[in-house]
Amino acid sequence: RAKSQGRNGYQLFTETMNADALGRLLLEHSLYKGLGRGEFSLYYQPQIEMNTWSIGSVEALIRWRHPTLGLLLPGQFIPLAEEIGLIVPLGEWVLREACRQGALWREQGRSIRIAINLSARQFEQAGLVEMVQSALQDSGFPAELLDLELTESTIIQNKDNAAETLGTLRELGVRICIDDFGTGYSSLSYLRRFPLDVLKIDRSFVTGLAEDARDQAVVRALIDLAHALGLVVIAEGVENVAQRNTLFDLGCDVMQGFLFSPALSVEEVDIFLDTIPNTRRH
Ligand code: C2E
Ligand code: MG
Ligand code: MG
Ligand code: MG
Repeated sequence: RAKSQGRNGYQLFTETMNADALGRLLLEHSLYKGLGRGEFSLYYQPQIEMNTWSIGSVEALIRWRHPTLGLLLPGQFIPLAEEIGLIVPLGEWVLREACRQGALWREQGRSIRIAINLSARQFEQAGLVEMVQSALQDSGFPAELLDLELTESTIIQNKDNAAETLGTLRELGVRICIDDFGTGYSSLSYLRRFPLDVLKIDRSFVTGLAEDARDQAVVRALIDLAHALGLVVIAEGVENVAQRNTLFDLGCDVMQGFLFSPALSVEEVDIFLDTIPNTRRH
């Protein structure tokens, strides 16, 4: 087809290909540089505990302040970071930074639980347990306040070692959370086969919850099953009062979503916590 368009058509085609490859290469290069230059930062999205109506925890979500492209969201660079393996040092930075911030909040009299996301590449990395242990030790952040979020597919990709790795991590005292639950090749048997503490119901089940009777039936069953297995249930992507009320009635323990707050910078978290009178303080 390129040939029938003559020389120009063919050139256009190859130039486009080169532009894509070049863009990727540049992004790859600036990812490495960005890590060295401290261009990444963590934002924290509050998670509201339903029984106390307080912020017991936050989820750390990575952002990249790119020198020319502006603030980038994880969807714009995490897949490439995973592909090229940079997610391993980047993920270590996330863990250490979250622990450092968590320890600082504790010094300021705030015991906030922090959840971080682990990618599949990190989970299968030898030495993960030692890395988590050393991040906790170096920062002084208590393991009991750290949540590690993994998706079902991460666990399933590492089926053979997953139970053992999760068990060893859990022995450190951290909680294991299954993220985006219901979006992967979910098998309910995983819920009892693997040592887990928290089930995060994916946003896709929350969206239509208030109107859709079938979504309600699924979420009700999920919450009841999770509770029967001794898991804490967190709902993701709660955007309106109708969803919140339905989840509350179904017995959901913790909620996270734009209704309460988006992910915030540290400065914004401090302001947010100060304006909520019943935030747990020590
Ligand atoms: P996730 O772990 O499921 O995080 C929740 C995502 O949903 C966040 O997007 C959050 O901003 C967004 N969100 C929260 N509440 C609402 C809501 O009410 N409505 C809607 N529409 N969205 C909501 P974000 O920050 O863009 O992160 C996207 C994904 O990137 C995360 O999904 C996680 O899988 C990954 N990610 C983020 N930070 C890290 C990290 O440090 N390491 C790794 N490996 N992955 C990360
Ligand atoms: Mg998550
Ligand atoms: Mg999630
Ligand atoms: Mg999600």
